[in-house]
Amino acid sequence: MLEMFIVVCLSFLIVFFLWKRNALLKGRIANQLNAFQRAFDMSDDAIIILSDNFEIIYMNHASKGLFKFNKDNKKEIFANNLKIKIKDEWFPLDEFIKKYIQLRDSFSFANTKITITDVKEELSVNLSFEKIEPSSSIKSDKKKGERYIVSIHDLRKENELYNATFYHDLTKLPNQDRAIADLNVLFAKSHLHNQKLALLMINIDNFSRLRSILGYQQADKILIKFANYLDEFCKENSYNVYNTLYNTFLLIIPSLSKIEEAEEIAQKIQKQLVSFFSMSDAKLYLTASIGISVYPDSGPTRNLLDNAYKALYSAENKGQGKIEIYQSDSIQKEYDELVLYNDLPDAFEKKQFEVYYQPIVHAQSKEIVSAEALIRWKHPRYGLIAPYIFIPMLEKTGLIVKLGKYMLETILKQQKHWELFKFKRISISMNVSIIEFETEGFVDFIAKKLAENKIIPDLIKFEVTEGMAAMNETRINHTFQELKKLGVGISLDDFGTGYTSFSYLKKIPAEIVKIDKSLVDNILKNKEDQRIVKAIIELAHTLGMKVVVEGVEDQFMAELLASYRCDYMQGYHFAKPLPLFEFQELLR
Ligand code: C2E
Ligand code: CA
Ligand code: CA
Repeated sequence: MLEMFIVVCLSFLIVFFLWKRNALLKGRIANQLNAFQRAFDMSDDAIIILSDNFEIIYMNHASKGLFKFNKDNKKEIFANNLKIKIKDEWFPLDEFIKKYIQLRDSFSFANTKITITDVKEELSVNLSFEKIEPSSSIKSDKKKGERYIVSIHDLRKENELYNATFYHDLTKLPNQDRAIADLNVLFAKSHLHNQKLALLMINIDNFSRLRSILGYQQADKILIKFANYLDEFCKENSYNVYNTLYNTFLLIIPSLSKIEEAEEIAQKIQKQLVSFFSMSDAKLYLTASIGISVYPDSGPTRNLLDNAYKALYSAENKGQGKIEIYQSDSIQKEYDELVLYNDLPDAFEKKQFEVYYQPIVHAQSKEIVSAEALIRWKHPRYGLIAPYIFIPMLEKTGLIVKLGKYMLETILKQQKHWELFKFKRISISMNVSIIEFETEGFVDFIAKKLAENKIIPDLIKFEVTEGMAAMNETRINHTFQELKKLGVGISLDDFGTGYTSFSYLKKIPAEIVKIDKSLVDNILKNKEDQRIVKAIIELAHTLGMKVVVEGVEDQFMAELLASYRCDYMQGYHFAKPLPLFEFQELLR
């Protein structure tokens, strides 16, 4: 009886255990399926599992969205709704799978068009499908139990992003990033076919003025119109067009036999543009400046886009409606100058200016008696820039007045320092441009600074040029008299250049005449130059002036000039303009 009971209990336990295990297993499978389903639903791609007769077994969340799924149409989706376009031919998807799956177990098609009848829109997608064989236990006949997994990756979002990345908002033309990407391919092609490739950088002139007159909306309309014209023109001719900046367009002409062709195209575009808009009462008509760079003529490919911009800058600089081809260094130079123009105003605040000093020596003893202060611009990109490049820019922008003040303050501070530390006392001369000379308050500023620093006026000299004598006579005389009253020195610089006339020696109350380097360059060989220099020295002496000869580059020149009884000399033979610390070493 007990045995019976034990057997029954054991059987019961075994049954219970098996039942429990099964339940647990089912639960686990259900959990797993649930997790898979959740994972599928998290995917942005549409995933569909089809049975072997193409009925839908499972659709994830994204596919329900894509197919605008509702319970009624579930089965018919594949039969009726979904078509796929392969090589211009449309197939219902189920037919397509049936046909292809016989050849291979999986397929994928990148950037393929599909349509869904209900959605009506043609979609670009990445499509893939895969056959899953049934597990061996279920498999009875060959086909039964097969499953197809279809996955559809909607490319719309990517395309939107692509459009935002590669297309201009307003004109919908491809943008500069797109141009750079395309250029690489196009370069390779033209190189392979031994053809020239041209870039045309087109900029509508004075567009901001037009915009302020017409308002944004009208101006935008004109831009769009021009963009459409360019687009059509380029399609006709197999060129590429891009909208690189607001009112700047880029054309790539991929095969060209002569540079002149690019110029002709540019002219054609300019002619068309004029017809788009004009307003005679406001004297307003559309023109475009065009910069062209040509591969291989304008240099290596990596510079071509830059060079087209530079050519455009240069064209704009020459006025409206100009065409410029980048072919030589000259544009590079011009461009550099333009860049410098932009950097100049900040150079003061960024402390990029530095004063150099060039000694002026006594002609007989060769001792340093004074020095000329010369400005240098330490540009972060271009290095040390010589004054002949930026002084004219400073003059054009009026910043020269600021430079003059900076020079004077620096020199005065330096003089104070030398006084304190018992350096040899010498006068320092600084150059003044006509513009400074004409500026209101020029003399007052000097007077104020001299007083502030308590510097003997004698220690400061101003180098003026004879051009100043051509200015309004009463005014200039007044300024010179004021300077004299202050007690500062005046030197007449660059004597012997341009329209030198001995009469200037009388007009300008200078105590020193500086004979220009150009007059002494050939003095060792040229008898006439010798006579002129000698005469200037003698005349200056009769007028009670001293003479500095500039540009003394060697011993022979120095000896000859000393024999002419010039008073002082300045030149590389003695020293080049030196930075402060090197100059101080000489002074010791
Ligand atoms: P400048 O007043 O005639 O200055 C003399 C120029 O001749 C300096 O050129 C100097 O470096 C150069 N020089 C001196 N000795 C020799 C020599 O033996 N051989 C050669 N080949 N050259 C020599 P830098 O410093 O380039 O200055 C050029 C011009 O820039 C100056 O001509 C002056 O007109 C202007 N400049 C320089 N600094 C200033 C400034 O602070 N204010 C203004 N307004 N102009 C300045
Ligand atoms: Ca000078
Ligand atoms: Ca000079």
